Amino acid sequence: MSIRKVFVGGNHKCNGSVTATSSRARLLAEAAPDLPSSDDVDIVIAPPAPYILTTKAVLDEHGSSAAVALQDVAIAREGGAHTGTVAADMAADLGAAWVIVGHSERRHVYGESDAHTRAKIAAVLDADLGLIYCVGETLEQREGGDAFGPVAAQMAALFDNPALATKPELWANIVVAYEPVWAIGTGKVASPEQAQEIHTQLRAAVAAATSPDIAAAVRIIYGGSVKLANCAELIAMPDIDGFLIGGASLKPEFVDIIKTAA
Ligand code: PEP
Repeated sequence: MSIRKVFVGGNHKCNGSVTATSSRARLLAEAAPDLPSSDDVDIVIAPPAPYILTTKAVLDEHGSSAAVALQDVAIAREGGAHTGTVAADMAADLGAAWVIVGHSERRHVYGESDAHTRAKIAAVLDADLGLIYCVGETLEQREGGDAFGPVAAQMAALFDNPALATKPELWANIVVAYEPVWAIGTGKVASPEQAQEIHTQLRAAVAAATSPDIAAAVRIIYGGSVKLANCAELIAMPDIDGFLIGGASLKPEFVDIIKTAA
Protein backbone atom coordinates (compact mmCIF):
# COMPACT_ATOMS: atom_id res chain seq x y z
CA MET A 1 0.00 0.00 0.00
CA SER A 2 1.30 3.41 -0.93
CA ILE A 3 2.62 5.77 1.72
CA ARG A 4 1.77 8.72 -0.52
CA LYS A 5 -1.64 10.34 -1.02
CA VAL A 6 -3.56 8.22 -3.51
CA PHE A 7 -4.32 9.77 -6.89
CA VAL A 8 -7.13 8.47 -9.09
CA GLY A 9 -7.69 10.02 -12.51
CA GLY A 10 -10.48 9.23 -14.93
CA ASN A 11 -9.59 9.80 -18.57
CA HIS A 12 -12.82 9.95 -20.55
CA LYS A 13 -10.85 10.14 -23.83
CA CYS A 14 -13.08 11.22 -26.75
CA ASN A 15 -16.32 9.97 -25.22
CA GLY A 16 -19.39 11.67 -23.90
CA SER A 17 -21.92 14.41 -24.45
CA VAL A 18 -23.04 17.32 -22.31
CA THR A 19 -25.71 15.09 -20.77
CA ALA A 20 -23.56 11.99 -20.23
CA THR A 21 -20.59 13.97 -18.88
CA SER A 22 -22.83 15.91 -16.49
CA SER A 23 -24.42 12.77 -15.13
CA ARG A 24 -21.01 11.12 -14.61
CA ALA A 25 -19.81 14.18 -12.69
CA ARG A 26 -23.04 14.23 -10.65
CA LEU A 27 -22.69 10.54 -9.81
CA LEU A 28 -19.15 11.12 -8.57
CA ALA A 29 -20.10 14.21 -6.59
CA GLU A 30 -23.10 12.50 -4.98
CA ALA A 31 -20.91 9.57 -3.93
CA ALA A 32 -18.70 11.91 -1.86
CA PRO A 33 -20.08 10.83 1.56
CA ASP A 34 -19.04 7.24 0.77
CA LEU A 35 -15.61 8.18 -0.57
CA PRO A 36 -12.38 8.82 1.34
CA SER A 37 -11.84 12.50 2.08
CA SER A 38 -9.72 14.80 -0.07
CA ASP A 39 -7.00 14.44 2.61
CA ASP A 40 -6.62 10.83 1.54
CA VAL A 41 -7.24 10.88 -2.19
CA ASP A 42 -6.96 13.23 -5.15
CA ILE A 43 -9.71 12.55 -7.65
CA VAL A 44 -9.32 14.05 -11.10
CA ILE A 45 -11.65 13.81 -14.08
CA ALA A 46 -10.44 14.46 -17.62
CA PRO A 47 -13.47 14.93 -19.87
CA PRO A 48 -13.09 15.97 -23.51
CA ALA A 49 -12.10 19.67 -23.59
CA PRO A 50 -15.56 20.91 -24.71
CA TYR A 51 -17.04 19.48 -21.51
CA ILE A 52 -14.57 20.90 -19.01
CA LEU A 53 -16.76 23.85 -18.04
CA THR A 54 -19.82 21.65 -17.61
CA THR A 55 -17.92 19.08 -15.56
CA LYS A 56 -16.43 21.74 -13.34
CA ALA A 57 -19.82 23.42 -12.87
CA VAL A 58 -21.51 20.17 -11.85
CA LEU A 59 -18.70 19.24 -9.43
CA ASP A 60 -18.70 22.73 -7.89
CA GLU A 61 -22.48 22.86 -7.63
CA HIS A 62 -22.41 19.62 -5.62
CA GLY A 63 -19.49 20.70 -3.44
CA SER A 64 -17.21 17.99 -4.82
CA SER A 65 -13.48 18.25 -4.18
CA ALA A 66 -12.71 16.37 -7.40
CA ALA A 67 -10.59 18.35 -9.86
CA VAL A 68 -10.76 18.55 -13.63
CA ALA A 69 -7.98 17.85 -16.14
CA LEU A 70 -7.36 18.62 -19.79
CA GLN A 71 -6.45 15.50 -21.81
CA ASP A 72 -3.78 17.17 -23.95
CA VAL A 73 -2.47 20.68 -24.49
CA ALA A 74 -0.96 23.05 -27.05
CA ILE A 75 2.82 23.38 -27.19
CA ALA A 76 2.52 27.12 -26.51
CA ARG A 77 1.34 28.03 -23.04
CA GLU A 78 -0.59 31.12 -24.13
CA GLY A 79 -1.86 29.68 -27.43
CA GLY A 80 -1.87 31.66 -30.68
CA ALA A 81 -1.52 30.06 -34.12
CA HIS A 82 -2.15 26.49 -32.91
CA THR A 83 -5.32 25.41 -34.68
CA GLY A 84 -7.25 22.64 -33.03
CA THR A 85 -5.57 22.68 -29.65
CA VAL A 86 -6.25 24.12 -26.22
CA ALA A 87 -3.59 26.20 -24.46
CA ALA A 88 -2.50 25.65 -20.86
CA ASP A 89 -3.62 29.18 -19.96
CA MET A 90 -7.07 28.36 -21.35
CA ALA A 91 -7.20 25.17 -19.30
CA ALA A 92 -6.48 27.24 -16.19
CA ASP A 93 -9.10 29.79 -17.26
CA LEU A 94 -11.66 26.99 -17.59
CA GLY A 95 -10.91 25.84 -14.05
CA ALA A 96 -8.84 22.76 -14.92
CA ALA A 97 -6.17 22.01 -12.34
CA TRP A 98 -4.33 19.24 -14.22
CA VAL A 99 -3.24 18.36 -17.75
CA ILE A 100 -2.40 14.94 -19.17
CA VAL A 101 0.71 14.97 -21.38
CA GLY A 102 2.26 12.13 -23.35
CA HIS A 103 -0.72 9.77 -23.41
CA SER A 104 0.06 6.80 -25.64
CA GLU A 105 -2.76 7.73 -27.99
CA ARG A 106 -1.05 11.11 -28.53
CA ARG A 107 2.36 9.46 -29.02
CA HIS A 108 1.32 6.46 -31.10
CA VAL A 109 -1.96 7.35 -32.84
CA TYR A 110 -1.23 11.04 -33.46
CA GLY A 111 2.53 10.64 -33.82
CA GLU A 112 3.39 13.24 -31.22
CA SER A 113 7.16 13.74 -31.11
CA ASP A 114 9.40 14.01 -28.06
CA ALA A 115 9.89 17.67 -28.96
CA HIS A 116 6.13 18.24 -28.75
CA THR A 117 5.95 16.37 -25.46
CA ARG A 118 8.78 18.46 -24.02
CA ALA A 119 7.10 21.71 -25.09
CA LYS A 120 3.78 20.57 -23.60
CA ILE A 121 5.44 19.72 -20.28
CA ALA A 122 6.97 23.20 -20.22
CA ALA A 123 3.63 24.84 -21.03
CA VAL A 124 1.84 22.99 -18.23
CA LEU A 125 4.49 23.65 -15.59
CA ASP A 126 4.84 27.31 -16.61
CA ALA A 127 1.08 27.73 -16.24
CA ASP A 128 1.31 26.32 -12.69
CA LEU A 129 -0.98 23.46 -13.53
CA GLY A 130 -0.59 19.88 -12.34
CA LEU A 131 1.04 17.55 -14.85
CA ILE A 132 -0.01 13.94 -15.32
CA TYR A 133 2.88 12.66 -17.41
CA CYS A 134 2.25 9.33 -19.18
CA VAL A 135 5.02 6.92 -20.09
CA GLY A 136 4.95 3.31 -21.23
CA GLU A 137 6.46 0.70 -23.50
CA THR A 138 4.88 -1.12 -26.44
CA LEU A 139 4.43 -4.89 -26.45
CA GLU A 140 7.21 -5.21 -29.01
CA GLN A 141 9.58 -3.30 -26.74
CA ARG A 142 8.64 -5.42 -23.72
CA GLU A 143 9.01 -8.64 -25.68
CA GLY A 144 12.35 -7.37 -26.96
CA GLY A 145 13.53 -7.65 -23.36
CA ASP A 146 13.85 -3.98 -22.46
CA ALA A 147 10.58 -2.70 -21.06
CA PHE A 148 12.19 0.09 -19.05
CA GLY A 149 14.48 1.52 -21.76
CA PRO A 150 11.71 3.31 -23.67
CA VAL A 151 10.10 4.44 -20.43
CA ALA A 152 13.43 5.92 -19.29
CA ALA A 153 13.77 7.71 -22.63
CA GLN A 154 10.31 9.23 -22.19
CA MET A 155 11.24 10.34 -18.66
CA ALA A 156 14.19 12.28 -20.13
CA ALA A 157 11.65 14.78 -21.51
CA LEU A 158 10.69 15.53 -17.93
CA PHE A 159 14.19 15.54 -16.48
CA ASP A 160 15.40 17.93 -19.20
CA ASN A 161 12.79 20.55 -18.35
CA PRO A 162 14.71 23.73 -17.43
CA ALA A 163 12.03 24.98 -15.00
CA LEU A 164 12.40 21.81 -12.92
CA ALA A 165 16.13 22.36 -12.60
CA THR A 166 15.65 25.84 -11.15
CA LYS A 167 12.41 25.18 -9.27
CA PRO A 168 12.50 21.61 -7.94
CA GLU A 169 9.39 22.41 -5.87
CA LEU A 170 7.46 22.04 -9.15
CA TRP A 171 7.84 18.28 -8.69
CA ALA A 172 4.97 18.55 -6.21
CA ASN A 173 2.75 19.36 -9.24
CA ILE A 174 3.75 16.20 -11.11
CA VAL A 175 2.21 12.74 -11.19
CA VAL A 176 3.89 10.13 -13.38
CA ALA A 177 1.50 7.62 -14.97
CA TYR A 178 3.03 4.32 -16.04
CA GLU A 179 0.76 3.10 -18.81
CA PRO A 180 2.10 0.16 -20.82
CA VAL A 181 0.78 0.65 -24.34
CA TRP A 182 -0.18 -3.03 -24.58
CA ALA A 183 -2.47 -2.66 -21.55
CA ILE A 184 -4.37 0.46 -22.60
CA GLY A 185 -7.90 -0.34 -23.66
CA THR A 186 -6.98 -3.97 -24.33
CA GLY A 187 -8.31 -5.69 -21.21
CA LYS A 188 -4.74 -6.98 -20.64
CA VAL A 189 -3.72 -5.47 -17.33
CA ALA A 190 -0.09 -5.55 -16.14
CA SER A 191 0.40 -7.92 -13.25
CA PRO A 192 1.03 -6.20 -9.91
CA GLU A 193 4.63 -7.48 -10.08
CA GLN A 194 5.18 -6.16 -13.61
CA ALA A 195 3.81 -2.75 -12.65
CA GLN A 196 5.71 -2.62 -9.35
CA GLU A 197 8.97 -3.46 -11.14
CA ILE A 198 8.62 -0.50 -13.52
CA HIS A 199 7.39 1.81 -10.76
CA THR A 200 10.48 0.95 -8.70
CA GLN A 201 12.70 1.72 -11.69
CA LEU A 202 10.84 4.97 -12.30
CA ARG A 203 11.29 6.06 -8.69
CA ALA A 204 14.99 5.22 -8.87
CA ALA A 205 15.28 7.23 -12.10
CA VAL A 206 13.60 10.23 -10.42
CA ALA A 207 16.00 9.86 -7.45
CA ALA A 208 19.01 9.79 -9.77
CA ALA A 209 17.78 12.83 -11.71
CA THR A 210 16.62 14.85 -8.71
CA SER A 211 16.93 13.83 -5.07
CA PRO A 212 15.85 10.94 -2.83
CA ASP A 213 13.27 13.23 -1.16
CA ILE A 214 11.61 14.18 -4.43
CA ALA A 215 11.61 10.55 -5.54
CA ALA A 216 10.07 9.41 -2.27
CA ALA A 217 7.28 11.99 -2.58
CA VAL A 218 6.40 11.81 -6.28
CA ARG A 219 3.27 9.86 -7.07
CA ILE A 220 3.61 7.15 -9.69
CA ILE A 221 0.26 5.80 -10.80
CA TYR A 222 -0.61 2.85 -13.02
CA GLY A 223 -2.91 2.90 -16.05
CA GLY A 224 -4.00 0.19 -18.45
CA SER A 225 -7.23 -1.81 -18.20
CA VAL A 226 -7.74 -1.04 -14.51
CA LYS A 227 -11.10 -2.30 -13.27
CA LEU A 228 -12.74 -2.95 -9.94
CA ALA A 229 -11.77 -6.61 -10.34
CA ASN A 230 -8.02 -5.94 -10.54
CA CYS A 231 -7.45 -2.65 -8.68
CA ALA A 232 -7.07 -4.06 -5.14
CA GLU A 233 -4.05 -6.22 -5.98
CA LEU A 234 -2.39 -3.39 -7.90
CA ILE A 235 -2.84 -0.79 -5.17
CA ALA A 236 -1.43 -3.28 -2.64
CA MET A 237 2.01 -2.75 -4.23
CA PRO A 238 4.20 -0.26 -2.35
CA ASP A 239 5.10 1.94 -5.34
CA ILE A 240 1.69 2.10 -7.00
CA ASP A 241 0.18 5.35 -5.76
CA GLY A 242 -3.08 5.29 -7.68
CA PHE A 243 -4.50 4.90 -11.14
CA LEU A 244 -5.22 6.58 -14.45
CA ILE A 245 -8.38 4.92 -15.70
CA GLY A 246 -9.84 5.06 -19.18
CA GLY A 247 -12.76 2.75 -20.00
CA ALA A 248 -13.83 2.08 -16.41
CA SER A 249 -13.95 5.82 -15.64
CA LEU A 250 -17.02 6.02 -17.88
CA LYS A 251 -18.89 3.57 -15.66
CA PRO A 252 -20.33 3.75 -12.12
CA GLU A 253 -17.56 1.27 -11.25
CA PHE A 254 -15.19 4.29 -11.16
CA VAL A 255 -16.55 5.26 -7.73
CA ASP A 256 -15.92 1.74 -6.39
CA ILE A 257 -12.37 1.79 -7.73
CA ILE A 258 -11.72 5.04 -5.83
CA LYS A 259 -13.10 3.45 -2.65
CA THR A 260 -10.83 0.44 -3.08
CA ALA A 261 -7.75 2.49 -3.95
CA ALA A 262 -7.82 4.99 -1.09
C1 PEP B 1 -6.00 5.42 -20.50
O1 PEP B 1 -6.57 5.79 -21.53
O2 PEP B 1 -5.20 6.19 -19.93
C2 PEP B 1 -6.28 4.08 -19.99
C3 PEP B 1 -5.55 3.64 -19.01
O3 PEP B 1 -7.29 3.41 -20.61
P1 PEP B 1 -7.96 2.01 -20.12
O4 PEP B 1 -8.19 2.12 -18.64
O5 PEP B 1 -9.24 1.93 -20.87
O6 PEP B 1 -7.00 0.93 -20.46
